[in-house]
Parts: sequence; C-alpha cells; structure tokens
Amino acid sequence: MKNLWCDEEAKNFTTDLDLRVYTSNLLGRSDELVLHGGGNTSVKTVIDGEDILLVKGSGWDLISIEAEGFAPVKMQTLLDMAKLKELSDSDMVSGQKAAMIDKSAPNPSVEAILHALIPYKFVDHTHSDAVVTISNSKTGIENIKKVFPNFLIVPYVMPGFILAHTIYEMTQDLDWSSIDGIILHNHGIFTFDNDAKVSYEKMIEAVANAEVFLEQNARVNVQSSYDTSGCDIEKITKVISEAKGYQIHLNINQSPLASYYSAHDNLKEFASRGILTPEHIIRTKRVPLIMEDTNLEEGVAKYIEEYKAYFTRYAKDEICLNPAPNYMIIKNLAVISFGKTKKEADIINDIVEHTMMAVLCGDKLGGYKSISEKDSFEMEYWELEQAKLKK
Ligand SMILES: [Zn+2]
Repeated sequence: MKNLWCDEEAKNFTTDLDLRVYTSNLLGRSDELVLHGGGNTSVKTVIDGEDILLVKGSGWDLISIEAEGFAPVKMQTLLDMAKLKELSDSDMVSGQKAAMIDKSAPNPSVEAILHALIPYKFVDHTHSDAVVTISNSKTGIENIKKVFPNFLIVPYVMPGFILAHTIYEMTQDLDWSSIDGIILHNHGIFTFDNDAKVSYEKMIEAVANAEVFLEQNARVNVQSSYDTSGCDIEKITKVISEAKGYQIHLNINQSPLASYYSAHDNLKEFASRGILTPEHIIRTKRVPLIMEDTNLEEGVAKYIEEYKAYFTRYAKDEICLNPAPNYMIIKNLAVISFGKTKKEADIINDIVEHTMMAVLCGDKLGGYKSISEKDSFEMEYWELEQAKLKK
C-alpha cells in the first residue's frame, strides 16, 4: 500500500476543507481502497458559530471529489439522530437533508451519522480489498482481531441508520483515544485523527498491515496456462440482450486472473459465494451466471428462475429487479460483464476483478465467506441503493 501524501502538493492546501479534498483524492487514487463511488470521508468544522460536519455527498467519487462535493450538515442533528432507537433510512436521509446549511449541496453520505459520532476532525472510510479479504473468510473475525488488535471491531450490520446506531451503542463507554480505528466486518475500515495527514496515514498503515498478513498467509499464485480462445460475442450479446430487455455492451476479461479463476473445479459453488463489500451487489448481483456444459439459452433461463426464487424467499413488498445476470463466467474461457453502456460493463468488471482475488485469498484462509444471502437481499433491495443507481 503506497502512501501518496506529498508535502510539495499538500502545501497548497491550508483550510480544513482543502486538506479534506486533498486526502480524499489520495484515497480515491488507490483502487485497492475504493472503487467507483465507494468509501466516504468527512471533516468537522465550525461555520457561523455552529459545529458542522462536511461529509462526502452522494454521487461523488473520492478520486475526483471537490470542495462542493461535501455536504455541510449540523452536527447536533446527526448526534441526536444517532440516539434514536429506530429510524427508517428514508427518514434518516430526509433528516440529514433538513439539517444541511446549504440546500444546494449534494445529499450527505448515508454514513454521515457514523462520521459525526467519531470525535475527531478528519474521518476516512474505505472498502480496502486487503481488509475485506481477511474479513470475508471463515476465519475472518479471528484474523481481523489478530491484525488489528487496537481497532474497534463491529460485526456485520446493514449500512445506514442501523450501523450508525450500533456504533453509537458500542461506543458509549469507549475511550476513543484507546483505539486506532474501526473495522466494519465484511464491509470496510475507518481511521480518524485531528490531522488530515495522520488520519490518511493511519489508513495506509492499517491496510499495509493487512496486506502483509495476506502476503504471509494467503499468497495466490495465478497461473495462466489455460486456453483462452474466442468467445461467441455475437451470440452472448444477442441472448443476454433478449434476457435483459435492452441492448447490452460487454466487457470480456481473459486476463491471467480471470482465466485461472474460470478454470476452478466446482466452478458454480466456488464462484457463487457472494460479494466483497455490500454496495457491490447493486452492480454485480450476488452471484454470476456460470456456464459449464449447458448452452447459453438454458443457462440464462435457469439463472433467471433461480434469481426469482431468491427474490421470493426474502421479498416483502419490494419490486423485483431485472432478473437477468450482470456478469457470467465461462468455464476455462472468460469472465464477461454486461452493461447498458460500455462504461457500466467496465465498472462491473473492475469490481469482479477485485472480488476474484479476494475469493482466492479467502480460500487460503479457511474458505471465502461473504455476508449471508438474506443480508445480501436486504442490501440489493435497499431503497437508498436503488435511488443511487437511478442517478
Ligand atoms: Zn462503506
């Protein structure tokens, strides 16, 4: 994990917000920390005599966020909301919006309350590959405790209000100076400090420790001696477009990692064990279409049938999303992502690329293990996540 802080660059930034923008961009530049809109950051400041949290606005990526990408929210309102026993995520979102001192700013991140609860000026949150990889295995909690002895470790709960309230309860008697950060199991990591540089460096150091642990305990050797001859692009585009109900674009991945991954024994079981961090589900769905020996039409029909059964198992009054797959793995050949646009297909591929490595590492740590199918459903059908995608 490279520390990208540069004194020469940093000296141009003097205000709290300028520094917040700078280190957010640094985090965003490492795709092993955050991908496509993932992660969030904040800084606490005083505006017109009032304590204000400036927190990443939704719709912004850390790599390119600017000052106007941060939403200014009254700290007191956020802290009051944290104490509530119950609050729906849509009420939380409207409460946060109402507490903004600039109504033209973007909507605050759904983790705003959690950022407010952390009594330090700068708060950094990422979905570090190395951290979630250690976390997403059968030995996850045990190993996380080993690698992060001074972190508060929070078992998986749904992001949004439930997570914020859980942290509120867990930290009632906590001496914050006794911990170096927070690990959200199966989700990501928080670091914080009153100094922007130190908060950033704590993140880099923590992730570097996780990487060393993986290097020592879960080294994956990708060998690519597999036959990666042609894919029938025309047929795949036709069959998947029909299933989706719109014309799709493909990302065809035949990298050494994709070939190695697609050649695994028991491919269906191996590659259907869930997502790397909760928000990925919106892009990838929980599992891919696996093509081993059936024809494509049958494979897609079976996928759709299984997706609908999954929906029925957990749905209360949700409306079923498009049941066709978002990516597929063809045995010994390729990993192919589908998007409405080429960009969307490429984003899905990026996420899958990081997930494949985590799955391979997780198996070296006793077996890859993501959040449960039910938790996955709750994330996939979260009203706020659906809203994010509509943008
Ligand atoms: Zn997160």
